[in-house]
Amino acid sequence: MRSGKVRNNPAKNVQRFRCRPQQFRCEARCCEHPSNRPALILADYITLSQHTGRRMSDIWMEEGDIYLGPHDERPDDFVIGLGLLFDPCCLFLAEDNSCLVYEGRPNPCVAFPLMTMIYDRYAEVRSNRLDIFPCLKGVEPTAAQRDWMKRYVKTSRQAIALEVPLLWERGGLPRFITFTDSRRMFELVGQAMGRVQRLGPRIAEDRAASLEWAAGRLVGMAEAGAIALEALELSELLAPAYFILLQDKIAAGLDDIQDHHLPEFKRVMKSFRSLRKEAKEII
Ligand code: SF4
Ligand code: SF4
Repeated sequence: MRSGKVRNNPAKNVQRFRCRPQQFRCEARCCEHPSNRPALILADYITLSQHTGRRMSDIWMEEGDIYLGPHDERPDDFVIGLGLLFDPCCLFLAEDNSCLVYEGRPNPCVAFPLMTMIYDRYAEVRSNRLDIFPCLKGVEPTAAQRDWMKRYVKTSRQAIALEVPLLWERGGLPRFITFTDSRRMFELVGQAMGRVQRLGPRIAEDRAASLEWAAGRLVGMAEAGAIALEALELSELLAPAYFILLQDKIAAGLDDIQDHHLPEFKRVMKSFRSLRKEAKEII
């Protein structure tokens, strides 16, 4: 579960969010509902690695997943990011519904549910989430939470600015993709992508040759530098092969960052640590 503590809110007329799993009998829905898979950044992988003592690439291969988020300005495009595998729930969720990496859990888990409460721009999504998470009904963010969230977003942007040239640009990975039939592809990839290495066996036998062809084309495109383009258009045929390729490239990028570039993240990691400390009091 995202937070196990219940605190009183001194602010008048504001009902403050409280994580109350016993009351809502939610069984840690926030850590198992597919709609709540957190979008991570490299800083979250650094935190997880520091907390568990494991290499970032191992975490990526075991518990990581690709996250596809909506593109701010292009409705048919999706931004590619790091994520956590939900299979069917987050793999860090223990049987007793506690978080196995609680002190090192990713920042979006620390910030839950403030992002939804403050930044969700889509009324439809928001009301849908209220149905899924009864603990969010009737609560409003406090001024302190809004202020914390602003600083959290600012620090995240700084961390992403460090991440992009190291992980995405240097690895020749596009930051956003267009699917030929975007809605259908989002559905298909979102369901099947869970773990990209498990995607291979799921592809029907009679498509194996096509997959091989697609993988060959992607490798060719990568070698030719085409994948270094900012955006990539994927057909249903190319998508599975692309995600398999992407998985390996991200693992190699994480290894390179872990071995050579962690000091560059020192300042933002310090800011995140201080935000996390503060979150214990205000969320
Ligand atoms: S769904 Fe809500 S009440 Fe339940 S564990 Fe998650 S945050 Fe807490
Ligand atoms: S890392 Fe922990 S808090 Fe975050 S989704 Fe997984 S189990 Fe929940």
